[in-house]
Amino acid sequence: MNRNELKERVLAANLEIKRSGLAILTWGNASMRDAASGEIAIKPSGVAYEALRAEDIVVLGPEGQIIEGALRPSSDTDTHLCLYRAFPGVNGVVHAHSPYAVAFAQAGLAIPCLGTTHADSFYGEIPCTRALSEEEIAGRYEWETGKVIAEAFAGRSPLHTPGVLVSGHGPFAFGGDAESAAQSAVILEEVAKMALLTLQLRPGGAGAEKALMDKHFFRKHGENASYGQKKGAPR
Ligand SMILES: [Zn+2]
Repeated sequence: MNRNELKERVLAANLEIKRSGLAILTWGNASMRDAASGEIAIKPSGVAYEALRAEDIVVLGPEGQIIEGALRPSSDTDTHLCLYRAFPGVNGVVHAHSPYAVAFAQAGLAIPCLGTTHADSFYGEIPCTRALSEEEIAGRYEWETGKVIAEAFAGRSPLHTPGVLVSGHGPFAFGGDAESAAQSAVILEEVAKMALLTLQLRPGGAGAEKALMDKHFFRKHGENASYGQKKGAPR
């Protein structure tokens, strides 16, 4: 992928955060890694979405050094870099402060799988990290945020459960590219909203049956997926 394409795709993912109502002001950020070159493109810090152009997108090397771009990268850049290092299959990361997901994060609660909307996109609960320690907050804070996320995924696939809540903070969503990460962020917010409403009606929630959860997730993912149209199939 050439660098311009990478920047255009990261611009589009950032604009999607705004368009889909996940962020106000300059909140939120999206990035993408080119798996072949290892280069990472990310939103610049503090630039309004309305003013954002492809040439403003900052391109970094795998270690975070600026390769292209005149602006400073997002203040959350270290978290994105840490996640790309921890999750080799993840090549898109989106962070937002979307209110329903933030509500679960601020309560320090995972989002339980309560039904098929959740199960279509997220396998099992959407985890909530542990709180960062005082040392972690005082240290390389954004990098440590990435580390507690990686810790929450021990024994889980970030592509099967492409989102997480950072305790006291908010959601990060993942994908194989920027577009799928942005889509995961949008679905995560909608699922959080539905879960909150469900838990208001029925505190504790009933939870989705494992069989139903498996049915819905694996209908769309994996080698036996049957959702959508087969390539080349008659319509
Ligand atoms: Zn944040």
